[in-house]
Amino acid sequence: MAGWDAEVAVVGLGAWGASALWQLAARGIEAVGLDRHEPGHPFGSSHGGSRMFRVTCLEHPHLVPLARRSLELWHQLEQAHGQQLFVPAGGLLIGPEDGLIAGGTLRAARVHGIEVETLTPALLRERFPRQAALPADHIGVWEPSAGILRPEESVRAAVGLARAAGARVHTGTRVDAIELVPGGALVRTAQTELRVRQVVVAAGAWLGFLVPGLPVETYRMPITWFRPRAGHEDGFGLADLPVFMREIEGGRVLWGNGAENGHDVKLGLEEHGRVPTPLDPLTDDRAVRPEDWTELGSLLPEKLPGLADVPSKVAVCMYAKTPDGQFVIGRPGGDSRLVVAGGCNAHGFKHATGIGELLADLVQHKPAAIDAGFLSPDRF
Ligand SMILES: Cc1cc2nc3c(=O)[nH]c(=O)nc-3n(C[C@H](O)[C@H](O)[C@H](O)COP(=O)(O)OP(=O)(O)OC[C@H]3O[C@@H](n4cnc5c(N)ncnc54)[C@H](O)[C@@H]3O)c2cc1C
Repeated sequence: MAGWDAEVAVVGLGAWGASALWQLAARGIEAVGLDRHEPGHPFGSSHGGSRMFRVTCLEHPHLVPLARRSLELWHQLEQAHGQQLFVPAGGLLIGPEDGLIAGGTLRAARVHGIEVETLTPALLRERFPRQAALPADHIGVWEPSAGILRPEESVRAAVGLARAAGARVHTGTRVDAIELVPGGALVRTAQTELRVRQVVVAAGAWLGFLVPGLPVETYRMPITWFRPRAGHEDGFGLADLPVFMREIEGGRVLWGNGAENGHDVKLGLEEHGRVPTPLDPLTDDRAVRPEDWTELGSLLPEKLPGLADVPSKVAVCMYAKTPDGQFVIGRPGGDSRLVVAGGCNAHGFKHATGIGELLADLVQHKPAAIDAGFLSPDRF
């Protein structure tokens, strides 16, 4: 490595970059990871106590093989880490049979032969009484392979294992610029300049600042936690209220999971068809505003009766959106010095381990285990 500080630098150690660093280090590749914050921090997209995992990816048919591979790697990660990261408690997708959520899940299950159970409205009410307040034509699709992942612990686990396998890690270190030079790249921080053969930029919502020209826009997504009202405490744990996505009126999706691991019932509201609120990732201001929870709170007496309509806790998360709703992963213009990974579109956590493997394969110029052409940065 004469003249170079490392084979590869991974910029951004959120879920995707941490996983890439773990994979690279485990393959014996000399890698350096950099992040402006500490692993598991609350300023990006990989925090909030839980993330839904499901194999029935309704967002794109090619994501199903990625989710399957990711699950194998989640198990490897938790085994190596020695602590549970995936809670296989099943998941529930609710809505009209021909709709976005239940319909999309059924389509993905049919095409890919994924085991799911269709619950008639009566069966859904019987099995999951907390979800009983439904229109007559809404069904449930139960995916037993679904569950929840622990985001902060997963990121810390991957970074820890990468370190143990020999990766150098610089946290609290902001990368100010990446310059492509003959045969490699310069990664500039306030403290130093790293000379590497390749750079993987997994900077989440900040991707566009380090690699200009990618159509990635950044939005706010609040996460809220609610407690049951006095006298209604039963039936709000994860076993009774497993992780779910539920289509409601106005093209909106209510999502969340029951109380677990010291957290109250976690809920969010996605406003399909409405313009989300932009968030400037360059500011670390994550101050909560009433509009982060008032609309969701006002829906609860009808949709999930028994919960308080004022949250016990609110956090602000952000996500990066692309025009077609798919991730951006690959080498822009086929450049052998640069790999980018971003545009999570709020459905990328479950795939983090598979994406880490994909990024390591790209670095090694190996054929990818899955067909990733639809994620190419050159598709725009
Ligand atoms: C509210 C919410 C709910 C979600 N729910 C789900 C779900 O249920 N299931 C699911 O699969 N997905 C879900 N997602 C999406 C998922 O969380 C993201 O896809 C995933 O966390 C993306 O990880 P990332 O590594 O790309 O980004 P991040 O975690 O944001 O990591 C990017 C990292 O880059 C670092 N960085 C940025 N710029 C620089 C710089 N200049 N120098 C150094 N470091 C830098 C940041 O500090 C950060 O650590 C959800 C997202 C949100 C917001």
